[in-house]
Amino acid sequence: MPAPQLEALLEVQRLDTAIDQHRHRLSHLPEAAAIAGIDAEIAAVSRRRSTTVPARDEVAARQASLEADLAAAEERSRAVSARMYSGTVSASRDLQAMAADIEALKVRASDLEDRILAVLDEREPLDASIAADDEELAALAERRAAAETALGAASGGVQEELGQLVEQRAHAIQAVPGDLLADYERIRARSGGIGAARLIGARCDGCHLTMPSMELDKIRHAPPDAVVHCDECGRILIH
Ligand SMILES: [Zn+2]
Repeated sequence: MPAPQLEALLEVQRLDTAIDQHRHRLSHLPEAAAIAGIDAEIAAVSRRRSTTVPARDEVAARQASLEADLAAAEERSRAVSARMYSGTVSASRDLQAMAADIEALKVRASDLEDRILAVLDEREPLDASIAADDEELAALAERRAAAETALGAASGGVQEELGQLVEQRAHAIQAVPGDLLADYERIRARSGGIGAARLIGARCDGCHLTMPSMELDKIRHAPPDAVVHCDECGRILIH
């Protein structure tokens, strides 16, 4: 691997470390922690609301069904009354049957009304809980927006620097061959963010361990285009 390509990789490493530090700073801003806290509250309220809503919907469906039954009973009662008092029915047996019908419908309506009242009692706390959750969610959304603004103000400078670093990195990787970059990324992912390190004297700048002189000799006599890895930490060594 020609030395300029290895030097370019070291520049990518420098930028990646700076990018990691900026991201760390961004994610550890107290304003970011405040947002995470609000998000946890939002999640808890949303979870509660999402179990209350189906319960309320089930009760509301029962209420609607009872109300439809009541409306039907009242409608039938009105119809029977209308016929009874229309003067077209005169047989007393028919009139008695109609009166009995109306009486039975009244009992049914009264029973339905009782059941509707019971359902309304059941529904009331569910509606209240959903309304309270909605209110809380609206307040949390407002708090989150304010926290976002605060975070924006606190992180603006860091974000800007991060943007520049990301741009510089995109430029820097163009000087690094794809397979070397892939090797670096793989090592970096498992080695605490450092995939390439300079060999300073006999010491790997990645793990700070001193190479045995035999190992050092091997590295020094390796072809200049060979990619050398630290024996201790596996990082790509730039020598
Ligand atoms: Zn090492």
